[in-house]
Amino acid sequence: MTSARPFNFSAGPAVLPEPVLHQVAAEMLDWHGSGMSVMEMSHRGKEFGSILEAAERDLRELLAVPANFRVLFMQGGGLGENAIVPLNLSRGSKVDVVVTGSWSRKSAAEARRYADVQIAADIGKGHKIPTDWALRDDAAYVHVCTNETIDGVEFHELPQLTHGAPLVADVSSHVLSRPIDWSRVGLAFGGAQKNIGPAGLTLVFVRDDLLGRALDICPSAFNYETVAANQSMFNTPPTFAIYVAGLVFQWIKGLDYAGKQGLAAIEQRNIDKAALLYGALDASGFYENRVDASCRSRMNVPFFLKDEKLNDVFLAEAKAAGLLQLKGHKSVGGMRASIYNAMPLEGVQALVGFLKAFEARHG
Ligand SMILES: *Cc1c(COP(=O)(O)O)cnc(C)c1O
Repeated sequence: MTSARPFNFSAGPAVLPEPVLHQVAAEMLDWHGSGMSVMEMSHRGKEFGSILEAAERDLRELLAVPANFRVLFMQGGGLGENAIVPLNLSRGSKVDVVVTGSWSRKSAAEARRYADVQIAADIGKGHKIPTDWALRDDAAYVHVCTNETIDGVEFHELPQLTHGAPLVADVSSHVLSRPIDWSRVGLAFGGAQKNIGPAGLTLVFVRDDLLGRALDICPSAFNYETVAANQSMFNTPPTFAIYVAGLVFQWIKGLDYAGKQGLAAIEQRNIDKAALLYGALDASGFYENRVDASCRSRMNVPFFLKDEKLNDVFLAEAKAAGLLQLKGHKSVGGMRASIYNAMPLEGVQALVGFLKAFEARHG
């Protein structure tokens, strides 16, 4: 399928696979002969039941989620989880947070409303994940953000905690871009709108021994044990977003790239896209990415023009060239190219071509 659409580098809500958008459009008024749009169906009917079941099955298969983890389809987004996680897991006691950028810093601040939070390590204004963590033996859990969407810092390997506290990972902006080592995780959560589907859906993967620890003040609709006991149907789940996410899971399952299939294919494509973009930035004296090579994100690539006076003209010319939403986060400035799963290799090739042409014109 060829596209005349521009390439969209938004950090989120972000690009979706074009075949999925076509399928959603084709099924919009009548899903599989039901006479209904998915938006119009009872979440308790057999049609939506089959959609939810397939979505969970495909997601579990793609990420090899072990049987002792529950997959919850919730609402509230990443910021909602910053409160929902401590409400469920902290027991009002100690929580250690490793700050590697803007999102983990926000998580720490929100958890402080419910728990005794300690910053175990802080990247500060640096660009390398700190290795020395001050962890407390009796912490209820340790929070990390495994891909910092704003700062472009990613854990390429999950930390192996040895003191017994479960690891909680905010995987919002790289979930399904690579495998997850479940042996190192107690709970992972992510909003859907970066790498999975429309905003409104939040995925939670929780090890079942962590259920049943919620504080009394935890809202029932956000109590993991309650949500799990009701198969994500305690209240109405975000049905349409789940449907689109399910199509994205099927799209990944059907991918074939460099002799690999499914998640391995998308991971390899992400590795190749990132190598192409970082390679072009590093080879130029005109652009700059400041993140240490050990923890550069495959998904979010912040970069700066050495002459920041050219920022506005860069963005205008990029847009005219069919390259959208490259402006960096306001807290960081500069540019950011988010190259999530749904960004094709051709999109990164077009961006790299533009970077070189822009440098030739203005360098
Ligand atoms: C986008 C994002 C969030 C916030 O998600 P909302 O859905 O806006 O609450 C949290 N964490 C990370 C890593 C993100 O990328």
